[in-house]
Amino acid sequence: MIESSPGISTTAQVVEELRARPAFVMVSHVKPDGDTLGAGLALGLALKKLGKRVHYFQQDPVPRNLRFLPDSEFVSRAIPPDLPPNALYVFCDMSDWRRAGEFLPPMTRENMLDIDHHLGNSLFGKLNYVLEKECSTGTAVMHLLRELKVPMDRDIATCILTTIMTDTGGFMHSNASPEALELAAELMRAGANKEEITEEIFLKKRVAATKLLGRIIDAMKFGHDNRYCYSYVNDAMLAQTGADGEDTEDTVNVLRGQDGVEVAALFKAIEGEIRVSLRSNGRVNVQAAAKRLGGGGHFRASGLTFVGPLDRAFVEVDAALVAEGL
Ligand code: AMP
Ligand code: MN
Ligand code: MN
Repeated sequence: MIESSPGISTTAQVVEELRARPAFVMVSHVKPDGDTLGAGLALGLALKKLGKRVHYFQQDPVPRNLRFLPDSEFVSRAIPPDLPPNALYVFCDMSDWRRAGEFLPPMTRENMLDIDHHLGNSLFGKLNYVLEKECSTGTAVMHLLRELKVPMDRDIATCILTTIMTDTGGFMHSNASPEALELAAELMRAGANKEEITEEIFLKKRVAATKLLGRIIDAMKFGHDNRYCYSYVNDAMLAQTGADGEDTEDTVNVLRGQDGVEVAALFKAIEGEIRVSLRSNGRVNVQAAAKRLGGGGHFRASGLTFVGPLDRAFVEVDAALVAEGL
């Protein structure tokens, strides 16, 4: 059903393209998470098994909590100068190629493959394997690997299970469907290390991160009859706690979890940029709200980059959420 949607490529078409190309650059989005990186590493590891040349491009460094992922040591901002002209750039987990950042060299659509599960993907690739019902981009990759007939191994399984656990919030979000859990079980049987993923991504916290969380909680504000909770983090708060941008990951979920809160926003005013993370309990569509301000994402989890002062960001995000029914 999904595979016959206009503009969406079939599994067979993508596999044919993967078989035809000799070299690949897996591309992840800026501020990378376990889905964008895990999906690219999984496909890269599999393509290497088929004898293909594989590189990994990511503008930002690998976050501390993802350095356990196999092949993550090869991820870099550099593109090798001797790539063949028909190298395929595989964009994982982004609704538009611009999310890869400004360091990615220009390329033609002919050399772009788009693998994603976001709502409103701009279908920017030669082929667009966009499966909105998948819980992660990594499970879309898993469907490709089946058709490619690459045997699952422990490393590939760990990468894909990381994508599932990242995007379902450790199986807590509504996208942790029966299908997602079945795929996760299959990956565990193939040797994926769930304990390690849980420890690295969900349990381990730097003391500085916990102190920063305290500051963010201190700064919480409520609106719309306490259905909306928002807070912020700025450079001064990072300096005072010794934390950095990576330590803000997931704190927005704490805001969303407060009693009665339907929508939460965390405003991250860091290094001259304001990035806003939005989360919803499922009533208000925060993807639509983010889109009003040039961002995107999913129904219950979205984000945007705001250009302007923080006070203005508070006002405009509030208005966008109200326009979507907050
Ligand atoms: P985050 O709050 O950064 O965890 O992002 C939540 C979701 O929103 C993810 O699916 C992101 O890919 C998406 N997202 C975050 N920032 C942006 C942005 N500036 N533009 C488009 N999508 C975004
Ligand atoms: Mn992502
Ligand atoms: Mn994702």
